[in-house]
Amino acid sequence: MSGKHDNQGKIKSYASQAGGWGALKGSLKHVVKNRGITRSMLTLLRVNQPEGFDCPSCAWPDPKDASSFEFCENGAKAVSFEATAKRVTPDFFAKHTVTWLNQQTDHWLEDQGRLTDPMRYNPTTDHYEPIAWDDAFREIAQQLQALDSPDQAIFYTSGRASNEAAFLYQLFVRMYGTNNMPDCSNMCHESSGEALSESIGIGKGTVRLDDFEHADAIFVIGQNPGTNHPRMLSELEKASRRGAEIVTLNPLRERGLEQFTHPQHVMPMLKNSATSISSLYLQVTLGGDLAALKGIIKHVLEAESTYPGKVLDHEFIREHTAGFEELVRDIENTSWESIEIQSGLSREQLLRAADIYVKSKRVIICWAMGLTQHKHAVPTIQQVVNLLLLRGNLGKPGAGACPVRGHSNVQGDRTVGITERPKPAFLDKLAEVFEFEPPRGHGHDVVGAIEGMLEPADSPTRCRFFLGLGGNFVAASPDTDRVSEAMNRCDMTVHISTKLNRSHVVHGKNALILPCLGRTERDEQASGPQRVSVEDSMSQVHLSHGKNPPANANLRSECAIIAGLSKATFGDRYKIDWDALIADYDRIRDLIAMVLPGIYSDFNKRVHTPGGFYLGNSAAELKFETANGKANFVAAAIPDLTLPAGQLRLQTLRSHDQFNTTVYDMDDRYRGIYGTRHVVLMNAEDLAERGLTDGDMLNITSHTIEEQGEQRHVSGFRAVTFDMPRGCAAGYFPELNPLVSYKSFADRSRTPLSKFIPITVEKMP
Ligand code: SF4
Repeated sequence: MSGKHDNQGKIKSYASQAGGWGALKGSLKHVVKNRGITRSMLTLLRVNQPEGFDCPSCAWPDPKDASSFEFCENGAKAVSFEATAKRVTPDFFAKHTVTWLNQQTDHWLEDQGRLTDPMRYNPTTDHYEPIAWDDAFREIAQQLQALDSPDQAIFYTSGRASNEAAFLYQLFVRMYGTNNMPDCSNMCHESSGEALSESIGIGKGTVRLDDFEHADAIFVIGQNPGTNHPRMLSELEKASRRGAEIVTLNPLRERGLEQFTHPQHVMPMLKNSATSISSLYLQVTLGGDLAALKGIIKHVLEAESTYPGKVLDHEFIREHTAGFEELVRDIENTSWESIEIQSGLSREQLLRAADIYVKSKRVIICWAMGLTQHKHAVPTIQQVVNLLLLRGNLGKPGAGACPVRGHSNVQGDRTVGITERPKPAFLDKLAEVFEFEPPRGHGHDVVGAIEGMLEPADSPTRCRFFLGLGGNFVAASPDTDRVSEAMNRCDMTVHISTKLNRSHVVHGKNALILPCLGRTERDEQASGPQRVSVEDSMSQVHLSHGKNPPANANLRSECAIIAGLSKATFGDRYKIDWDALIADYDRIRDLIAMVLPGIYSDFNKRVHTPGGFYLGNSAAELKFETANGKANFVAAAIPDLTLPAGQLRLQTLRSHDQFNTTVYDMDDRYRGIYGTRHVVLMNAEDLAERGLTDGDMLNITSHTIEEQGEQRHVSGFRAVTFDMPRGCAAGYFPELNPLVSYKSFADRSRTPLSKFIPITVEKMP
């Protein structure tokens, strides 16, 4: 990928706390920059409010007693970025060739503003040109009908899509005849779903927001809430203030897990005083969490043998679990030496964590990408569950498993059918309700989609069509150059989007952009203004109701666009009145309730109650829908992650001015990085050992384990000293995604390995 390097940056260590005045300034800067203070404040006063709209950023739940300013700094950035006054009109596209646009940075592209009209790429002029909606639908339908098989088409979903849009989308795709439904979850919490399904019979977290008020200890593993789920810091602050222990396992010292001031708490703001968050901070090495968790479990079992019957919850283990003996044997056969080497932590450090665990009656364990994007992610997350089960930390207030989702409705989309591996029961219901036979074979996930699009030109199974419901597939995916090639090889690429992004300018032979309404905007349909629904990380479903005037009169809602595509593609082949569904989304929810009667019965009645409703969680009720009806202890060997001499383990991550692939600005305040994204954070001794110093410009080469000898390169990254374990490094995505092979993915979940990329670095000549 081309793009200007922006190495004008400044590195200055950040001494302040997370939140506080910095968060206020950060929010203000963005709302003023994007939309002007008055209009922004009016919009922000409606975010995460009962009659308002859901923050289009992360999936942290809203408290029952929401404050008038129920948003964080990054929520303010997300809302003002979507509600920006800037526009990307047909004139904009007339001014810029697509080739030139592709030479701009991701930040620049998204900063141009909201798309206003449907556009079609003209290969002759290398420009996007306006097209009428119906013509666009017709062209897409013709392209789909021209494919030899529906399995030659890919239908991607980003976690921003509402339940209603996602449900209609999966219906459209399955009626078209494929399960090629990769989604952003494949790249983030797929490993959690895979692990939890085997361990406790449901792929979702068991914790609710209230539980944070009852926990004696909260473990935060492989997660940086200060940037990625900032309102979580309010819960951690409250917990810390009432004496709960907070144990962090993270290679990097993340400010949000050290010191925090709630920007809405007047006295601490006036005194500029902060609350300490982590009572124990363990800088585990990248990929060392499985070993660390086994070390903590080993200490717990040793404590049990010292104080028999005093440590483990034997009644819980007896009644609700299976596999305990195998786990004990596995832990006994695991040496402290391998635990210390592979975790990068000492026996003593792990003992302190185990002590806190044993002394706590109620424990919540939270995690995110730091666990899910590793080769052994699934067994690692199962060690989290093993630890919880030992002392019965499931199914009681203040305890449980808490995978914190990154995108506002990524969990909801999966619940209503966005998956390449749909369950037979779901397909049976779909067949019954809509009287058609849905495809039964599993489809492509993200890695499969890339493989499918890169198949030889004459391969009958090559994927030749890509449609993205939101998202930015090219920037979010690993292996940027390969994915760009894959997209360029498609006969047609189509994106339903709010803003201009990389995936619009890295396109197929034919390409269309279909601009949609944003969350902040009024969605007026025949029966009046419509509400959509979302499901947060803790299975709470609630409505979102945008009230801002649409960015442009020619925009359509995601639901209306999918209905338009369906009508153009199927005509009257199916007995569905798409227009009636769009006229009133309650009708879409009625259909969801018919297809998912177990969890979505009386959907409309329940969702129209203020604050929405809880979907429930079988494991939280100690009903384990596993093959043996039990919660399972799952033993796993510690993988040897030792790399050849000279290699480092690189992880990609977000800056504080970023949400997924959306780059709001060029700073990463909490890490002391300003005005640049071309950096690689390294341990000071690792730099010295390579004869490098802070500020050197580096070439980085990745050495993919799965492709012996295959290398990938990027250059022009500034070395920055950062507090992390030896042998580790870190930098931002999407800039470092060219280093990640799409053939490198986690066992079972096939999640790309963005947290463990073997690299070497050298000074640029
Ligand atoms: S915590 Fe997440 S959902 Fe809540 S306001 Fe912040 S970014 Fe939005």
